[in-house]
Amino acid sequence: MVKYDAPHHKPNGSNSDIKIANIAIVGGTHGNEYTGIYLLKIFKERQTFSSFKSFQTTLLLSNPKAFENQSRFIDFDLNRSFLNKDLKDITLSAYEQSRSKAINNLLGPKGNAKTDLIIDLHTTTANMGVTIILVDNNDFNLKMVAHVQSQLKDISIFYISPDDSDNPYLNSIAKYGFSLEVGPISNGIVRHDILIKTYQTVIYCLEFIEAFNQGFQSDEQTVDVFEYVKQVDFPLDNNNQIAAMLHSDLQDKDFIALQKGTKIFEMFNGDTVLYEDDESLYPVFINEAAYYYKKTAFTLARKKRLTLLPRNH
Ligand SMILES: [Zn+2]
Repeated sequence: MVKYDAPHHKPNGSNSDIKIANIAIVGGTHGNEYTGIYLLKIFKERQTFSSFKSFQTTLLLSNPKAFENQSRFIDFDLNRSFLNKDLKDITLSAYEQSRSKAINNLLGPKGNAKTDLIIDLHTTTANMGVTIILVDNNDFNLKMVAHVQSQLKDISIFYISPDDSDNPYLNSIAKYGFSLEVGPISNGIVRHDILIKTYQTVIYCLEFIEAFNQGFQSDEQTVDVFEYVKQVDFPLDNNNQIAAMLHSDLQDKDFIALQKGTKIFEMFNGDTVLYEDDESLYPVFINEAAYYYKKTAFTLARKKRLTLLPRNH
């Protein structure tokens, strides 16, 4: 049997008030992203978490009906269904709107959750490698992801600051955690290499948490994040239909700074569209299959260096 080893860290340093006692690992929030769904089976069958003593782990297939249907969702995107106002609104009763309430009962309630930390497993068709998506940049989250980044090469951290201090993502039920995007991979398949990267990232996090619960303080002082700026839609024709394809100069160039004058689209009529901003932003989710329905071609982010609180703070 293959075992996907990750090196173990030695706890040292001082204690902290934060204790992570209950963790949920969630897969299949989008029913056609199979990596997380099958990873849950692997975790269960191999009893991967039995060696961790300082926390309990819940495994959750979050959107079973969409998985059965081999689709991203049935009625709504489940990973946009966790705003506080929507969770409280009993008139919202389509499949994912009911499912989000059931998950909130199981893991939450949001704001006072029995689950301390959630890792929500996703995949992307974009060439993003391993990307941690944070919606809360609290110091614990930053330290955890900075530490994982120091252990595992080629991990990027994408940060979405919430509107009105609320956000609609599943992992926002808990105070700590993130969603994980690993790609590139088609929807509806499993790839061994992508699955192993996802597995390793989860294990590094859990090893960090186990050590943290025992008083470990990491050494990292800064962490680089890519902060969400805006989405860029495909050019549209007069009928509101997509009128261009992503240019090959941009395809697969996720997390590589865009320079003014870079070709970003080739119109179906033969014209070329250039990147015209003076600021050099970073494209991510380039050609993400799940965003064609809303005609989004890629997302732009700004690179930022964040300072972590010193040890013993
Ligand atoms: Zn997803």
